[in-house]
Amino acid sequence: MKSTRKGLRDGDLFKDTYERLNCADCEKVLKKKNDPDEVFSVRVCPECGATFKELR
Ligand SMILES: [Zn+2]
Repeated sequence: MKSTRKGLRDGDLFKDTYERLNCADCEKVLKKKNDPDEVFSVRVCPECGATFKELR
């Protein structure tokens, strides 16, 4: 799984005017899934299901 930082750098993601992460393909705001056992959050696109990890 890519990090959100790498996704932004690769053009898979972009930030909208509210600084929210969006999927570049679908132009949908990524949803957040928190797994208490992991040190990162998972961000997922509700449209295509692309997932990115976000370090906390
Ligand atoms: Zn998507």
